[in-house]
Amino acid sequence: MRQEAIQILKTYFGYPSFRAAQEAPVTSLLEGQDCLAIMPTGAGKSICFQVPAMVKEGLTLVFSPLISLMQDQVDGLREQQVPAAFINSTLTREAFNRCMYDIRRGHTKLVYLAPERLGSDTFCQILRTLPISQVIVDEAHCVSQWGHDFRPAYRAIGAFLKTLPQRPVVGAFTATATKEVEMDIKTSLGLETANVYVTGFDRPNLSFHVVHTNQRMNYILDYVTCHDRESGIIYCSTRKDVEQVYESLVKQGISAGYYHGGLSDEVRKEQQDKYAYEKIQVMVATNAFGMGIDKSNVRYVLHYQMPRNMESYYQEAGRAGRDGAPAECVLLYSGRDVMIHRYLIDQSIQDTQRQHIELKRLQAMIDYCFSSTCLRKYMLQYFGEQVVWNRCDNCSSCRSKHSTKNLTTEAKAIFHAIVATEERFGATMIANIVCGVRNDRIRRAGFDRLPAFGTLRTMDSKDVMALIRQFIASGYIRSSVGKYPILSVTAAAEDVLCGHREVEEVQQQVTAPLQGKNGRMSSIYYGQKKRSSAGLFEHLRRFRQQLAQQAGIPPYLIFPDTVLIDVTAKKPTTLAEFFAIKGVGEAKLKKYGTLFLQAISEYTNKQS
Ligand code: ADP
Repeated sequence: MRQEAIQILKTYFGYPSFRAAQEAPVTSLLEGQDCLAIMPTGAGKSICFQVPAMVKEGLTLVFSPLISLMQDQVDGLREQQVPAAFINSTLTREAFNRCMYDIRRGHTKLVYLAPERLGSDTFCQILRTLPISQVIVDEAHCVSQWGHDFRPAYRAIGAFLKTLPQRPVVGAFTATATKEVEMDIKTSLGLETANVYVTGFDRPNLSFHVVHTNQRMNYILDYVTCHDRESGIIYCSTRKDVEQVYESLVKQGISAGYYHGGLSDEVRKEQQDKYAYEKIQVMVATNAFGMGIDKSNVRYVLHYQMPRNMESYYQEAGRAGRDGAPAECVLLYSGRDVMIHRYLIDQSIQDTQRQHIELKRLQAMIDYCFSSTCLRKYMLQYFGEQVVWNRCDNCSSCRSKHSTKNLTTEAKAIFHAIVATEERFGATMIANIVCGVRNDRIRRAGFDRLPAFGTLRTMDSKDVMALIRQFIASGYIRSSVGKYPILSVTAAAEDVLCGHREVEEVQQQVTAPLQGKNGRMSSIYYGQKKRSSAGLFEHLRRFRQQLAQQAGIPPYLIFPDTVLIDVTAKKPTTLAEFFAIKGVGEAKLKKYGTLFLQAISEYTNKQS
């Protein structure tokens, strides 16, 4: 790694070293080789191109999809004295001219712009006269029709690159890319020979939980009350739910906001700003609240309903903890969600092949909710990663005080019923058979004469359905894909039927992460032993809030939560000690060092 890059990393960004995953893309760009980097949220993509931009002669263009994202990044860079600017439709002619003047004089190193700007020939002509050394395509999956956020204007970037007098080095960055999207990015941007770097999907600071409950609203109210000093997002499937949850929170005196596609641009912007500036703590939203969120200190993401697939879930839950500090992702499961998703897939997708794919993805999501083994492992494997360990010790499966139960008798009864009905029926029929429900369909088919009939008559059919789902998740039962999924048994179930194998399952438990009195503690401290430090952390958090208000910027742009945590633990007393904190660069040391040292000593004096 070039010394110059490391120097810039510390001076401007306050970090002593690059993370392992950052090194390759940084080196690639510094050496003038195109790259495509697929890195999960929070991995630190921005620094991968911001540092080379500062090292290189000339200008870096960064294509970014949203005005709010650009603004956030540029505000953050300016806070660190990195000369950056954005060009978008909000600029007045005067501001635009001033910006161009600075660029021409070489005073600006990074310019953020939306790809739609390339629609103007005059603007492209201006760009061609600038000394562009690097072009970055952020959120590069927007190039692809297969991606979830396709933006046609992204397609123009490839052609634009060809018109430049000298081809700059090109870097594409995204958090999500399937093979199709990756291919699309490469062909559209002319990156066929680029270095491709794929970092694993794992987000170790996120702790995943599934809660099975029919009392979702109570759970949410409890949870949010316990985390009243932290920023969180509650995702709901529909606008109606957003409004209901929002109203319940407000009634309870919680400072919440709401966001969905049915609101005007103005209201959406107002809500988003309130959230970024921490005037409200919780945002209740549909998935329309997405890419524009650069807020790094979202400490929890709750899902009021189960999303329709793992891809959506991981993307939405992944908005928690971008700063790398601990954060929680809780999915509230209720059986009704499955029915609604099946209905919607059936109604909204005509193409049977696509329907099949969507139902398969839905099934994987359901299996996640019923998985009794490590949720993180399940998720990583779903995204195609090899996982050698079995427990993360940081998800509801690993952390619940679970007891295992021998369910061989119940399993045999269910498997028998599936086999005896020639693997032609779904979960409801099988549950009715083993529970001994003598309805018309069962009588007509003669299933009430099967030996399996009524073998689990002491159980409720709802509980049997839950068991069936659990056995699907643990691989004993296969569920076909389609409007009416049909069950069949796997080789593992046959082993059970032959008496060669016992079924030991972890019992599903309703866990309430960080509830109760201790829940009031910042979940940031969760995992940290010194709970007494929470007072100083809170003090610094409030202090940061005041500074942010005076400066008119979001608090996390002053310092991310990770810096406050480190400051709380190390309690620096000199500027040199403060500078040694990860994330404190020279500009911020100058601007905030003394102020924070005063705030720390004020607090410690009060305590002694
Ligand atoms: P992404 O765009 O991949 O979601 P960001 O660029 O927002 O990630 O970075 C996530 C967090 O990681 C930010 O708070 C950033 O300051 C921090 N970060 C980035 N690089 C480093 C590093 N080398 N060392 C420590 N923290 C870093």
